[in-house]
Amino acid sequence: MKKYPLLEAVYSTEQFCKAGHDLIDQIDSYLSHQFNGKNAVNRWQNPKDELLFWRSYDYRDFHQFVSDILRHSIHIHNPKYMGHQVSAPAPMAVLTNMISDLLNNGSAVYEMGQASNAIEKLVVELFCQKIGYDPQLSSGLMTSGGTLANLTALLAARQSLKGSDIWQHGSDQKLAVLVSSQAHYSIDRAARILGLGHSGVIQVEVEDDYSMSYQALLTCYKKAINDGYKVLAIIGSACSTATGSYDDLLRIGQFCQERELWFHVDGAHGGAAIFSDRHKFRLKGIDFADSVIIDTHKMMMTPALSTVLLFKDKAKGSQTFHQKAQYLFADATVDDQWYNSGLRTFECTKRMMCLQFYVLWQQYGAEVFAQNVDCLYELGQVFAQLINAHDRFELLLEPQTNIVCFRYFDKALTENELNVLNCQIRQKILEDNAFYIVQTELNNVVYLRVTIMNPLTNSNHLKALLCKIEMLVDK
Ligand SMILES: *Cc1c(COP(=O)(O)O)cnc(C)c1O
Repeated sequence: MKKYPLLEAVYSTEQFCKAGHDLIDQIDSYLSHQFNGKNAVNRWQNPKDELLFWRSYDYRDFHQFVSDILRHSIHIHNPKYMGHQVSAPAPMAVLTNMISDLLNNGSAVYEMGQASNAIEKLVVELFCQKIGYDPQLSSGLMTSGGTLANLTALLAARQSLKGSDIWQHGSDQKLAVLVSSQAHYSIDRAARILGLGHSGVIQVEVEDDYSMSYQALLTCYKKAINDGYKVLAIIGSACSTATGSYDDLLRIGQFCQERELWFHVDGAHGGAAIFSDRHKFRLKGIDFADSVIIDTHKMMMTPALSTVLLFKDKAKGSQTFHQKAQYLFADATVDDQWYNSGLRTFECTKRMMCLQFYVLWQQYGAEVFAQNVDCLYELGQVFAQLINAHDRFELLLEPQTNIVCFRYFDKALTENELNVLNCQIRQKILEDNAFYIVQTELNNVVYLRVTIMNPLTNSNHLKALLCKIEMLVDK
């Protein structure tokens, strides 16, 4: 055979070992810099300049590349990162990811992922137990993110509609889902993918605390039925994305049970509180849910993407994609083939995404997930108190979680001027690089939005954020 020297180089372990040891040192030094919170959280550039940088980038070696990537990325381990809801991944989970990358076991078929299919089942069992599902009846799977998990759950809901097999025959029924107006956009997207269209996503009004209004749910449901819709599912948010408000799962769950409707709980962010004795009361009634999703890459310290999707009734969870792929699954008619996870997930090739969660669970105990939720939610309270004590800031509402919405306030300004000013503040913070926060708009009012994702954030960082905002306004 001909020689393939490049391939020989790719698969030699000599370079790997050298670069690998060096990388760990580089990450160690990076993390200790980030953890002390003294440096910038970001290095903001507009997209054009960033593209230009990489277009003219001169790749020298891996070490240099890593430092350039670090320099050009947002630093989630920095305690002044308080933006979007992704975890600051636990270093041990990061390390575990390397094993998943190395083995590249696909997991769709058991033979291609023996360990990961078995471990995934153990992880799922833990979540089912925390939720309060019957261990004999319940099941679940892991999938690539909350968006895909919501879609998969709604597909299962659709397939369980009585008197039809939509997966097989399609549907000309008018289907709808009912969901709070504060739900994550992935629900709307999933419903549209299912062919429900704009009118099939019925948005239920919220209460003052931004949780779904039960009265509005009753009204919307009645109207939907009168308008000839078949209700596919009712979706509870636990919690909502913008304000971190938990819907009343118990009331919605009972409502669904009485009418034999599918109840889905989107717990992408706040479902993790099921591990916390202090906060699980927010999830009271979650055991009524036919399906639940919880992201581990948000409040459970694993890297993205990793989401658990749980079904109260495993038979309903396994009928979602009941097409046959004979070359993969010899006997796909068996209902409970938990070990062939590809029967129940979108993914064919799937990362070994259970490993990171499993290592954190085994290494530190399930209590570590409770501590993370407790700590971050407590920081939400601490920040709210700081805002309340400050006359130049206004809190939207007392936070139930680590998501806090507030705004700079000046009674001399009109609402419109305040909106403009708060947008400017957020843009200035972005460009200033010391902190990272986001913004949201609720009832035409612009709020600054903080999600404290890093347990190393403390009250001094939060005070410093408020000082920074005042400084930017006064400048
Ligand atoms: C983040 C989020 C999602 C989407 O999850 P991804 O993992 O980002 O796809 C869905 N619902 C809620 C409530 C969320 O907070």
